[in-house]
Amino acid sequence: MDLTLPFDNSYARLPDRFYSRQAPVPVRAPRLVKLNETLARDLGLDPAALSSEAAVGMLSGNAVPEGAEPLAQAYAGHQFGGFVPQLGDGRAILLGEVVAPDGRRFDLQLKGAGRTAFSRMGDGRAWLGPVLREYVVSEAMHALGVPTTRALAAVTTGEEVIREAILPGAVLTRVAASHIRVGTFQFFAARRDTEALRLLAEHAIARHYPEAEGPLDLLRGVIAAQARLVAQWMGVGFIHGVMNTDNTAISGETIDYGPCAFMDGYHPDTVFSSIDVYGRYAYARQADIAAWNLAQFASTLLPLIDADEDTAIARATEAIGEFPGLFREAWLAVFRPKIGLATAEDGDAGLIHRLLDLMAAERADFTNTFRWLAEDAPGAGLRDRAGFEAWAEAWRDRRAREPVPGSVQAERMRAANPAVIPRNHRVEQAIAAAVEGDFGPFETLVKITAQPFDLAADHAAFSAPPAPGEEVRQTFC
Ligand code: AMP
Ligand code: MG
Ligand code: MG
Repeated sequence: MDLTLPFDNSYARLPDRFYSRQAPVPVRAPRLVKLNETLARDLGLDPAALSSEAAVGMLSGNAVPEGAEPLAQAYAGHQFGGFVPQLGDGRAILLGEVVAPDGRRFDLQLKGAGRTAFSRMGDGRAWLGPVLREYVVSEAMHALGVPTTRALAAVTTGEEVIREAILPGAVLTRVAASHIRVGTFQFFAARRDTEALRLLAEHAIARHYPEAEGPLDLLRGVIAAQARLVAQWMGVGFIHGVMNTDNTAISGETIDYGPCAFMDGYHPDTVFSSIDVYGRYAYARQADIAAWNLAQFASTLLPLIDADEDTAIARATEAIGEFPGLFREAWLAVFRPKIGLATAEDGDAGLIHRLLDLMAAERADFTNTFRWLAEDAPGAGLRDRAGFEAWAEAWRDRRAREPVPGSVQAERMRAANPAVIPRNHRVEQAIAAAVEGDFGPFETLVKITAQPFDLAADHAAFSAPPAPGEEVRQTFC
């Protein structure tokens, strides 16, 4: 079987100071626990070859495939608002880039592949829990239509990882348009390395914004992509959890799934991450935080935008100033179809916000409330029936001004409002079972959440919010 991958490693051709060359550190007893066959085929890789023993060697880091040039990428980043001039891949190794049959270039990265020059005090490893969480959540995000890195495979290492307890080690094979982050630019800006910034900007433009004519266009492209991305997160009730600048991808994909979660009961202040004590990255703050992260990105580009600093600042400030309007438009583009609308009226944002306010008042289930709007479920499950009826009257008036009949609007709602999401308690149950050696619940969850808009009979149990004792209020990285 053929495991020759068509590597073309453009990042490895950048100067030495962009990375540290490092092979993955071998593990004791690798075992493939999940291979994403659909994704493998999309990428032009042979799923049969990828589950061979030789491939498990590659997916665990025990064997470096022909043509790979493994390296750990250098980056910096603002973590919870504080700048750290050197972070970098401390537990991830970029094997290289592969060009898919459709011409798209993607990074193949092993997460949990051992210590690197950037590991600091860390062990370079990942335990099974976060690996499975990233697998199921990133694949669900893709199925929901949200730009994201993908999960190609998960392997267990046969080694123990020490966290709050002794836990099974694992490696995730991640596929991304690239792993270039705002923090990658910050790494060079902090070192006043304008030449590296110029090379990085050219590289990012070639990979992600080929129509951009220079750094200002690159900035505008990333601003627009992030505005759309965060609006899409909002539409599925997703909370990233760690929106640090090192976790903000230039490509506009969701990246670095840590203590992320989908909300069950809606409230704008919802936070799951155990490390986000002040709620910096709460659900409703995500757009403002993205704007702040983009301002950090803009500041790294100043020397490239114009030799005159005042001119550069004026241009960058103008571009950043466009974020709120772009986000508002993107948010409406996401939420209008959730209530069945395709045309635009001035009152739409208010109408949507009044529904969200009703939901917040009783922490109504985010996913199901929207889904039930399409099903003519009385009150969409809200306890405040009078409140809902008052809102629904305005909603009916608004829908009457749509050019298509109610049945078409309902179809639109079913296509915009998922029936199933990877609910936290389901993810935690799947992880707990896997730690005990039973990957059945994980397999089922991956399968069900890959069809999120489909309310088939076997989906019903997965659309239910957690029972009182099942609720998961905190997530850990
Ligand atoms: P993250 O919280 O995953 O975005 O990671 C923040 C920084 O910590 C990055 O530089 C990571 O590479 C590094 N890091 C996180 N976990 C580990 C680990 N177990 N070993 C080494 N470095 C780590
Ligand atoms: Mg180097
Ligand atoms: Mg990170």
